[in-house]
Amino acid sequence: MTASTILLDIEGTTTPIDFVYKVLFPYARAHVGDFLARHADDEEVRAAAFELLAERAKDEGQPQSPSSAPGRLDESRLETVATYARRLIDEDRKLTPLKTIQGRIWEEGYRRGELKGQVFPDVERNLRRWREEGRTTCIYSSGSVLAQKLLFANTEAGDLTELIEDFFDTKVGHKTDPLSYLKIAELLPRRPAEVLFVSDVVAELDAAAGAGFQTRLCVRPGNHPQPDTHAHAKIRTLDEVKTEGV
Ligand SMILES: [Mg+2]
Repeated sequence: MTASTILLDIEGTTTPIDFVYKVLFPYARAHVGDFLARHADDEEVRAAAFELLAERAKDEGQPQSPSSAPGRLDESRLETVATYARRLIDEDRKLTPLKTIQGRIWEEGYRRGELKGQVFPDVERNLRRWREEGRTTCIYSSGSVLAQKLLFANTEAGDLTELIEDFFDTKVGHKTDPLSYLKIAELLPRRPAEVLFVSDVVAELDAAAGAGFQTRLCVRPGNHPQPDTHAHAKIRTLDEVKTEGV
């Protein structure tokens, strides 16, 4: 059956894994202290900062006091949050409040022109091809929807967001859970068999296949090796996602 919708992963599929680990994470790490100090009164930043303080207390086995009001984000709390955020970045822990803060830091970086979204050279032409073929393209990534949109709005090839119908992040669920894919199919809305999911991670493709999606394993330079015991067809560029037989 022909897929009417192509659902793309980002890291290792549209974008080198190195971009995340060697550009985005170090940028957030370098700017988090200064960013928090400048946005201590911003409601979203403040809420995320207090969520991180609560997570940190949990990490350290401190008793929780949910009834007490969070109070002010003073200098010592800001420093604690910044230090904890840097540790989470180093440990690659994907906590939602961390992602919120990172997304806002990257937003500033893209606006200042200090960050450019990286995509492989075949991405733009295939987004255009699929549109011409009457298919839609969506993104599903563990990075926040804000971070996804920023990346595609600020690539070396220009703003590609007008070629992308919809963006999904872990708010629909984890990428290794078949239910997440069922939810995406429902939101699109499409029958699962009409959607083709492309990712560099077999565990994600297994989950998508479990939900009835078509799948392709994307093999890019710098991707992590994947187990060989799977039935997902391999592609090396998005040019290989053909209309016929897909
Ligand atoms: Mg990936």
